[in-house]
Amino acid sequence: MQYTAPGRVNLLGEHTDYTGGLVLPMAIPFATTASISAADAGYRFTSTAFENTRDTYAGDDTPKANDWSDYPVGVLRELLALGLEVPPFSLNLDGDVPLGAGLSSSASIEVATTVALLHHSKASLSAQEMALLCQRAENRYVGSPCGIMDQFVVTAAIEGHALLLNTRDLSFEHLPMNSGALAECSVVVANSMVKHSIANGDYGTRRNELEVGQAAICQAYPQVRDLGDASMEQLEACRSAIPAESYLRCKHVITENARVREAAESMKRGDAAALGDAMNRSHASQRDDFQDSVAEIDFLAATAVTLYGCYGSRLTGGGFGGCTVNLVLTTAAESFQRDLASAYRKRYQIDAEIYRCTPSDGAVARLERNA
Ligand code: ADP
Ligand code: MG
Repeated sequence: MQYTAPGRVNLLGEHTDYTGGLVLPMAIPFATTASISAADAGYRFTSTAFENTRDTYAGDDTPKANDWSDYPVGVLRELLALGLEVPPFSLNLDGDVPLGAGLSSSASIEVATTVALLHHSKASLSAQEMALLCQRAENRYVGSPCGIMDQFVVTAAIEGHALLLNTRDLSFEHLPMNSGALAECSVVVANSMVKHSIANGDYGTRRNELEVGQAAICQAYPQVRDLGDASMEQLEACRSAIPAESYLRCKHVITENARVREAAESMKRGDAAALGDAMNRSHASQRDDFQDSVAEIDFLAATAVTLYGCYGSRLTGGGFGGCTVNLVLTTAAESFQRDLASAYRKRYQIDAEIYRCTPSDGAVARLERNA
């Protein structure tokens, strides 16, 4: 049996998903397929993208392999921790979500594995439980301190819509992406093909800096539960008590939450220009305040907005490389792709991969469609 889960691109709301903030991602047509068959004994994982096979019984003492297989094994461990009886299987993962490019191949492989293992075990979980389980797998076993956005949208997205998610209480709204001027627009993802090696450590550092600022605000204002509640006035009042880096990271998150609110309203009105403007301001905030951009990405974003038909462009995903997301008039998408690629090649001698992405179904909607 085969089960699929998509990748995702985040339109707005970066680094807001682990401090109770808002995010606005959508699922993309790239996907991971998990093919599962019953086996005589044990649990076997393979991936078309990698050579090694992982055989495990996934006990409590299962050491990490420190490779791709930790993602699906982490999922299996979380399912077993729920008390689920999982019969022996062989599971192969195959997909076209670019790995490590900020389009969340990790959540895609986790959610595809979860759906496959649940069906194999004749069990079910709600979309929210699945997303939380995948996040736990990534946090606890893989060891990456990610928020909930990726797993949630990869599970719960529906075609034609972006997903406005409140990461504090996991309430969400599907926002149609075809109202007003947005009906004439496409989401174009530009993969810079660079990933700076500082990425992993720096994600954790940024997160710590943010949490220091958040703790100071929560202490000064007991009614503030997390940065999702905080205002710029409150941050300013705490400025002298926190390191300069913490101030900048918190400033990004507080202003980013406001931009997501604004962008969601723009989307409902079908106001492509206003949505694009919020994306551009988000990029500037990541570049200057959160400081998780790199020269190649800044070049792609700055060039994109000079091209005909582009309303907005920003770094998307974990940062330090990866992709930009662009809102572009559909009639101009082809020339946009060509001209952006050519400018990038000229400047960096790198061939960017540029894809037009329609908002796609998450894993649950895919299952329902195939049922
Ligand atoms: P991103 O989620 O942005 O793609 P991550 O570093 O979070 O980047 O996750 C990428 C990792 O997920 C890959 O290096 C690999 O270990 C794992 N992965 C994703 N898709 C697959 C797949 N189809 N097969 C095996 N491993 C995969
Ligand atoms: Mg990831």
